[in-house]
Amino acid sequence: MLNRTACVEAADSRECHEVKVPDKRGKVIVISGPSGVGKGTLCAEILKRVDDTCLSISATTRERGASEMEGKDYYFLTRETFEARRAGGLFLEWAEVFGNYYGTPKDKLNEMLTTGKSVLLEIDVQGGKQAKAAYPDAIMIFILPPDEHALYTRIQGRGRDSEDSVQVRLSEARAETSVAWDHYEHRVVNDDLEQAVHAIVRIIRAASAAC
Ligand code: ADP
Ligand code: 5GP
Repeated sequence: MLNRTACVEAADSRECHEVKVPDKRGKVIVISGPSGVGKGTLCAEILKRVDDTCLSISATTRERGASEMEGKDYYFLTRETFEARRAGGLFLEWAEVFGNYYGTPKDKLNEMLTTGKSVLLEIDVQGGKQAKAAYPDAIMIFILPPDEHALYTRIQGRGRDSEDSVQVRLSEARAETSVAWDHYEHRVVNDDLEQAVHAIVRIIRAASAAC
């Protein structure tokens, strides 16, 4: 932390006092990969193991799942509210995924970065590209399943999707994986969970030490 002098102007006075500000801004860490590959599970482990890291909570127009909580898993918005916030420039990035809107609220992200925290963005490839354009030093990590059967089992195991929805997610996974190679400098296979977590922690530490 650095000591800086901050001044507050009022109509008839100017008050200056010392405040503590972090000596560097946090980093944006984009975690993408097919639905069901284990992004949420991996992010939860990274938050426990890497100091000064927090998670961006996305906004979405999709229906809330039975076990999901407003403000913890997502901010669940109507399409009208999402569109109004999007028009107001309130999202860092947004995308339509599986027929629903998803977006990263800008204000909360900025708040976390200015306090020196690095922020995990668990978002799709379209959003990842937009985040990289806004933050060129973002750490871009793409998570791959060991194989398609494992991905099928994991999506099914979440118990949230119909068979049709599982098939849509599998075909989207193929499309997303094929375009991801150009935009993500790091790729991690989530086969053994512990090994995948270690690989991601190493990537984040190396990238953070390099700047
Ligand atoms: P995503 O956030 O990418 O949609 P989740 O984190 O919800 O995926 O994981 C989907 C399912 O796969 C969950 O049931 C989770 O426990 C399981 N899972 C995650 N990682 C692994 C792993 N390495 N091996 C086996 N199962 C896993
Ligand atoms: P799910 O409905 O399974 O929670 O998420 C579906 C997809 O939306 C996942 O690929 C996830 O990464 C993506 N997603 C979640 N939040 C965001 C976001 O804020 N922006 C973008 N672009 N994608 C998101």
